[in-house]
Amino acid sequence: MALIVQKYGGSSVADSDRLQMVARRIVATREAGHDVAIVVSAMGDTTDELLQLALGVSTVPPARELDMLLTAGERISTSLLAMALQELGQDAASFTGVQAGMRTDEAFGDARILEVQPSRIETAIAAGTIPIIAGFQGGSADDGETTLGRGGSDTTAVALAAALGADICEICTDVDGLYTADPRVVPHARRLPQLTTEEALELTAHGARVLHRRSVEIARRHDVTLRVRSSFGDGAGTWVIDHPLAAELISEPTIATPEEAPVEQSIVSGVTHTDDQSMLTVVGVPDVPGTAAAIFAVITGAVATVDMVGQTHTSADTGLIDFSFALPGEDATRAAKALQREQERLGFRTLTLTDDVGKVSIVGDGMRSTPQVSAQLFEALSEEGVTVHLIAQSEIRLSVVVPMAQLEHATRVLHRAFGLDAAEVATVAGVAA
Ligand code: ADP
Ligand code: ASP
Ligand code: MG
Repeated sequence: MALIVQKYGGSSVADSDRLQMVARRIVATREAGHDVAIVVSAMGDTTDELLQLALGVSTVPPARELDMLLTAGERISTSLLAMALQELGQDAASFTGVQAGMRTDEAFGDARILEVQPSRIETAIAAGTIPIIAGFQGGSADDGETTLGRGGSDTTAVALAAALGADICEICTDVDGLYTADPRVVPHARRLPQLTTEEALELTAHGARVLHRRSVEIARRHDVTLRVRSSFGDGAGTWVIDHPLAAELISEPTIATPEEAPVEQSIVSGVTHTDDQSMLTVVGVPDVPGTAAAIFAVITGAVATVDMVGQTHTSADTGLIDFSFALPGEDATRAAKALQREQERLGFRTLTLTDDVGKVSIVGDGMRSTPQVSAQLFEALSEEGVTVHLIAQSEIRLSVVVPMAQLEHATRVLHRAFGLDAAEVATVAGVAA
């Protein structure tokens, strides 16, 4: 018998039918002899709808009030799921994040979990009651309700699993695992039976939204056995762990394990894409020592991280150069304002800012020791006529910024070029793509 934390995402609980399906699945897990704690997201597009309501009355909704509003979404789904389970004859009770002991800091909209004190959840489990916990929310010591950032229910689930000492944390969603690329964009994407937390961190940081990045960080730090699987099918899903799967999990018939051999050793394990990037170009910078450093200092003073930088020589005669940076949209605006304030001192001519770009990344442990990966990437993209604006590389990732219109095409091109295409088209389980 295991203790399993299962998290169900928004599309998995989007209406009464799906809530009932999820309830039946929870009962099946219980009947297989396991204890469970359930984390749920808000139903379907509820969080977006609540945001729209806020924007209907406020141009810049105050962060505290916005969090108070958004936490309501998960209250609805938790209470309905508890009702659906009771209808099936189970003891079940819903809990808000605060009731479940999720203590956070006060960064409304992007709060960090400081501590989980899950005594009420432990009591419920011990009494045979299925606890249903609101994802994406917690409370600060002083002022109540906070949210963890979009997609944050995964983080609630893993933090709870760590606090409860659960055997497994299952992220149940509308795809049956973590794929080599977003199966909605790359039809020939393949499910990854297992990957390391390091690979999962890179994939989730650069576009694989199937897992909230911070959930992987917590799983890594607290050694939580993490699994992504379909909310509706019985497939093995994807294990995110740094060691071989424990023998008891492999032999446990009710916890289906990778039925196939691990994916063959390819250099690249996945391709991600994201459209949340903007490109900021500082045009006409005097090419004298120290200016690049001065520009960089202004930007890093305004934003938390700068991932991608490029430099072009505009003209040898004028001695002017251009610098480009790719940053998430809001950061780019902030950096542009900071540069404008310093224009005179920095001596550049003008700034251009466009959000008509996206970022494609290839990620893989094998890249560490394979320098020819970048050559292969550029060759594949240039053969297909994809323009590359900027490049960034880490030990196990290579990212390029491309025009928005070429983003999805570039993702498919790289997926094919690095030998990741499967023979069959992936299915997006449970829900139409
Ligand atoms: P949930 O509502 O269950 O939290 P999300 O919408 O947050 O679900 O995440 C699931 C979606 O993530 C999938 O429908 C898929 O389109 C997208 N996705 C992006 N990259 C990947 C990937 N590499 N593997 C699987 N799904 C991915
Ligand atoms: N409901 C929240 C969101 O839409 C949290 C989540 O789904 O994980 O972002
Ligand atoms: Mg999600």
